[in-house]
This record gives sequence, C-alpha cells and structure tokens, in this order.
Amino acid sequence: MGKMIYLDNAATTKTAPEVVEAMLPYFTEMYGNPSSVYDFAGKSKDAVTKGREQIANVLGAQKEEIYFTAGGSEADNWALKATFEAYKSKGNHIITTKIEHHAILHTCEYLEKERGAKITYLDVDENGVVKLDELEKAITPETILISVMFANNEIGTLQPIKEIGMIAKEHGILFHTDAVQAFGQVPINVDELGIDMLSSSGHKLNGPKGIGFLYIRKGVKIRSFVHGGAQERKRRAGTENVPGIVGFGVAAERAMHSMADRTAKEVLVRDHLISRITSEIPYVKLNGHPKKRLPNNVNVSFQFVEGESMLLMLDSFGICASSGSACTSGSLDPSHVLLAIGLPHEIAHGSLRLTLSEETTMEDADFVVDKLKDIVANLRSMSPLYEDFIKKQNK
Ligand SMILES: *Cc1c(COP(=O)(O)O)cnc(C)c1O
Repeated sequence: MGKMIYLDNAATTKTAPEVVEAMLPYFTEMYGNPSSVYDFAGKSKDAVTKGREQIANVLGAQKEEIYFTAGGSEADNWALKATFEAYKSKGNHIITTKIEHHAILHTCEYLEKERGAKITYLDVDENGVVKLDELEKAITPETILISVMFANNEIGTLQPIKEIGMIAKEHGILFHTDAVQAFGQVPINVDELGIDMLSSSGHKLNGPKGIGFLYIRKGVKIRSFVHGGAQERKRRAGTENVPGIVGFGVAAERAMHSMADRTAKEVLVRDHLISRITSEIPYVKLNGHPKKRLPNNVNVSFQFVEGESMLLMLDSFGICASSGSACTSGSLDPSHVLLAIGLPHEIAHGSLRLTLSEETTMEDADFVVDKLKDIVANLRSMSPLYEDFIKKQNK
C-alpha cells in the first residue's frame, strides 16, 4: 500500500504544525492558571485573550462576544438549551431544519420531549437549501429562536444565511447558526449576516480537538451553561483550555489568511473529482447544491452499491472517506440529510462523501477516481439488483 489519501476532512482535520508549535509551551512552560494573580499566570491569561481576539477578528465580532467551549457539540447544546430557558416566558417555539447535525437535532428532541418546547423542522429542497417562504410561514408569536446551519457537513450545501438573518431580525427573533463546517472555509461577518449566535469547533479547521466556541452577540440574554467559577464572563465556568484556545486562535487566523488561495485550489480539485466521477461512472448522482457548496465537499450516490462496502475497498487502497449509509451511525437508516433531499433509501445507502484539504492534489483525485471506477464496477458485478436492472435495460 502506498501513501494514505485522507478525504474525510469534514470529520476532522490534521492539526497544522504551526498550531501544535504554538500550543506546546502552554503545556510545558506556561502552565499557569489564567485566573491566578501572579505574573506567571498572566502569561496564560494573555494567551487566552489573544486567542479570543484572533477568533473575533475572523467574524468581525468583539472579543467579549466569544465564549470558549469544549467543542462544536457543546456550543450547539448551549445555544439551544440556554436560549430556550432564558426566553421561554416569551415563547416556546424554535425553528430549525431537517438537515442539522445531531448536536442540534438531538438537543431539539430533548427540549421537545423534556422541556415543553415546540420545534418546527423545516424541509429543504432537492439541493439541500432551506425554503425561505416556508421559514416565514413557520414563524409564530411564540417563536424565540431560528437555528439553521451555515453549511451542511454531509452534502456541503451553503444556506442563504443573510436572508435568514434578515427574516429573524424583521420578526425580532434570535438567529443561531451552526457554522462548524463553514468557519474558516467561507467569509463570515456576523453583523453583515445578522447572526446573533454562532457555533464553531477547532478540529474542523486544522486546530486541536476538544475546543470550540459560541459567539453570543452583546445583549442576547442567554443563560450560563456551566456554573462554577467566573471564567468566560460567568457564562461557562471551568479553568480555560489554554493550549486549546491558543491552538484554535492560530488555526482561525491561519484559515482566514489562507482562505482565498486554499479554497480556490480546493474548488479546482473538487470540480475535477465531480466531473470525472459523474462522467466516467454510470448511474451516479451528485448530492448537494452544484454551486453553493463548501469548496472541499464532494458527495455522490451510486445506484446498486452499498456505501459501507465502498469505504472498505477504498480503505484497502489507503483512501479515507465517509458514506451516508448505515453502520457508521450505528443505525440501519441512511443519513437523515440524504433522505431530506429526497433520495430513496436504496440510493442514499450508496453514498460517498469525499472532503478535501489544501493538501489534496489532482494526482490524488485521479488515483481516487481510477480506484472508484473499479470498485463500483466490482460491487455492481456482485449485485443481483444490478443484474436484473441490466437485463431489463437490454430487453
Ligand atoms: C463536527 C460538527 C459538529 C460537532 O463538533 P465537535 O467539535 O466535534 O463537537 C457540529 N456541527 C457540525 C456541522 C459539525 O460538522
């Protein structure tokens, strides 16, 4: 086996060397607790402040509006649960979509079952885009929050965030977005887009795992999430993850500076992959919006192929990918996102997600397509469904 080709950057990314380098001294030499008073601890406190500034810069936010968490899932939980608690005297209705990450969907289900919330799960169109007229129609006097993800983690579709922000503002409703996949990949300005809360996570943009943040616009009266010490302006207690914050700050700055060049390069490789796969392999469909999609996302469905089998065979060639089918999620149902864009179960089961990084080359892409052609042909040759289909075609 040759080198590994890692095409699962939506699951997690390689921590960039300069990120690791920036973090190391905060394990070894500058290990002080930012809350302590002596000069030594001040270095840790300064590092946390710098990380906060670096991240606020990327969003056009103020550093006091960034609250560090232990990752994207925590930020999503916080945004929904604490907004609900703080605003439930005003109303109990939250609007979200059917294609959110489970950190949002399962939190909504909890609020619905245990806390008396009413949740509207908006449909999306065949490209995975929220329908703005249906969003407007779903709003009631009880609506306190709209939560729509910035970019989908499976099919890469980007949502009309600015339009959603405008609708929320017109109706005096808070707007939260799960931007875990979008932060550092597409330009985001919270003021221009009318975003009140935004979740992100370090490990999706070449930062460390276990660190994320929730942006909370000044004036939003959301409850504290962790009670204890006075960290994060008393809203999220616990000694700060100083190395994580330092690493996330460097990763965010790095992602912002390299965004234009990096994503332009990724788009070329992405479109090359899409064009070769859809033209050279029969009975295949691209999932997600053809244009309004993350620069590094390819998601395709092959008829008469099982996604899991495809992943195992790709793995045997050192190719790391992901599918929208059964076993990965521990359930027999295919991905809720693929079902929401209208794919029948059997086609959703044959899905493949390839998510690129700045290191993915055209040669990598060609190697993957060459292998994929053989794998799909091979799996189809073993499929009784495919055999029947071909027989019918030839009649
Ligand atoms: C990865 C991801 C999360 C969860 O982030 P963690 O830091 O892994 O908890 C939430 N939402 C989306 C869209 C994601 O891609």
